[in-house]
Amino acid sequence: MNTSKHLRSWVASANGHADFPLQNLPMGIFSVGQSGKRCGVAIGDMIFDLRAALDASVFNGVARLAAETACRDQLNDFFALGASARQALRAELLHLLDEKSPQRDRLKLMGSTLLRPISDCQMHLPARVGDYTDFYVGIHHATNVGLLFRPENPLLPNYKYVPIAYHGRASTLCVSGTPVKRPMGQTLAPGADAPTLGPSKRLDYELEVGVWIGPGNEAGVPIEIARASQHIAGFSLLNDWSARDLQAWEYQPLGPFLSKSFATSLSPWVVTAEALAPFRASQPKRPEGDPAPLAYLLDDEDQNNGALDIELEVLIQTEHMKTKSLAPHRLALSNTLHMYWTVAQMVAHHSVNGCQLQAGDVFGTGTLSGPHPGQLGSLLEMTHGGKHSIELPGGETRTFLLAGDEVILKARCRREGQVSIGFGECRGVIVG
Ligand code: CA
Repeated sequence: MNTSKHLRSWVASANGHADFPLQNLPMGIFSVGQSGKRCGVAIGDMIFDLRAALDASVFNGVARLAAETACRDQLNDFFALGASARQALRAELLHLLDEKSPQRDRLKLMGSTLLRPISDCQMHLPARVGDYTDFYVGIHHATNVGLLFRPENPLLPNYKYVPIAYHGRASTLCVSGTPVKRPMGQTLAPGADAPTLGPSKRLDYELEVGVWIGPGNEAGVPIEIARASQHIAGFSLLNDWSARDLQAWEYQPLGPFLSKSFATSLSPWVVTAEALAPFRASQPKRPEGDPAPLAYLLDDEDQNNGALDIELEVLIQTEHMKTKSLAPHRLALSNTLHMYWTVAQMVAHHSVNGCQLQAGDVFGTGTLSGPHPGQLGSLLEMTHGGKHSIELPGGETRTFLLAGDEVILKARCRREGQVSIGFGECRGVIVG
């Protein structure tokens, strides 16, 4: 299908929109006032109401089936349909919303029944998440954190063979905009003999991408890497809020537990694999001396075209900055090209033991820091474990997050000859 830069929409705000031009068409679940949750597609500043479009009989064939399946209060069933149904719906949406669409005048007449300002709508998590797994594929983050915890041995020997992950807590995934309450937990003060219970004093964010799983696999049947992309429905931004003092005390021997499970924020729009297709890249070459992945993690097509080139940004706006009308301040600008493993490798590894993945499962990539200052995806790295504070506009400093601090993640894809697309925002303000 032609999604070149020449395509424009009759929804005027879409043309030149930073996040949601016609070429993106991300899907999400929204409600208005007391109305029920339903599926919408972001186009410019508006939400295209899929139910209203279906009621107007604008879809045909496979696209109609796909739209009917998406028109529930979650996208799990739609994700389970897989790539061909998703692509059929996208093709019809591109056609309907194109400025030259023969349906344009009829659709315009539907007015706010069909198109509502995003600002009037409440967004929800796009799917019921059965399981959430957080990977650790940002090798610069893994090295930086390893240096803080184990200076003599920052990167454990399994890292370059295994896409490392831990099982997160699906029940505390929340949609962007949900306030994040400072967690209580056990911490061991420096020099103390025994821990105490109290609120975390080292609350942090992690800049990650969330992966929405599409069709699952049968229990006991691994997903081969060559087919892994067929099991990925789309992507959101993910902030894996982390209590570093709880984490330092609890993480050995089994990994993070309460330091992570109090909240994980996701942006509400699912940017599809199709929208991201123009922003694929080859997986960056491993440094000299690194082992090749084992055969079940190696696929030519995935190596040639399985990485993503997505700019990732994290910003902060404190309560003081809001009072002074100071704009959010950029803390880091990184990129998904810093992933040591591809998303397909994550899927293949997760299922190689027969573990069942299900539609609507979420994977986090892990914090995606780059190698340079200005590319660090957590305060833990920026402040060297809390040793150096950072300065903010308005004269404040931070080592970790304080009450009223709002963290904002953004993502942007850009490439010569392509219309840029974005992910919208993933926001969370610290309470307490
Ligand atoms: Ca994480």
